[in-house]
Amino acid sequence: MSAKILLVEDEEKLARFVELELVHEGYEVTKSGNGREALDLAIAGSFDLILLDIMLPGLNGLEVLRRLQKEKEIPVILLTARDAVMDKVAGLDAGAVDYITKPFAIEELLARIRVALKLHAPKMLREAGAVEEGILTWGELRLDERRHRVSYAGHEIFLTNREFLMLKTLLENRDIVMTRDTLLNQVCGYDFAGETNIVDVYIRYLRSKIDDVFGVKMIRTVRGVGYVIQSEEDR
Ligand code: CA
Repeated sequence: MSAKILLVEDEEKLARFVELELVHEGYEVTKSGNGREALDLAIAGSFDLILLDIMLPGLNGLEVLRRLQKEKEIPVILLTARDAVMDKVAGLDAGAVDYITKPFAIEELLARIRVALKLHAPKMLREAGAVEEGILTWGELRLDERRHRVSYAGHEIFLTNREFLMLKTLLENRDIVMTRDTLLNQVCGYDFAGETNIVDVYIRYLRSKIDDVFGVKMIRTVRGVGYVIQSEEDR
């Protein structure tokens, strides 16, 4: 089954070009050039991914993203203008999984779409060993992707967006050592200008909220490489 993509872009020529390329790649595409309409479509539809321009008539992209996050979890890649650094930061903080700066090479956009779908599509989650759709577990830990909630033995754990994304990435790729670079890309976006030791900071937060509180050793450090969550059997 082909993935369904909602393309939100008010520049007609760009939208048509991207649509043609996506259809050529085998995606099912719905187009919208208005933020308000796009939000309604996104909430009512069953899209696997949203490509979201920021400067839009009706409702701007960041506002669409914020409102959408309250309704459901769909991976969103932002289409941003060059040098709009604040938009990128605000977008990632609001829950976008990635962004691409216009003008972009179509191959780069296609590559980012593949990555976003691979990491965030519910059907991939099932293959990664989820007991229910959108639920990842590790021992007593339960991560509910749709409700954006994490709990341990029924106790709710409050995580920031980035902590949540990092935990989700590690759980989805369990037994695979994730490098700091990979984790940084997943959590902060590819062009993030920060240092990879930001990853260590988020890992520390996660450990202080989970490992330290519940007396487990969930996230293992692989010295010189990165981090891994191992399957329960290997604990
Ligand atoms: Ca625009």
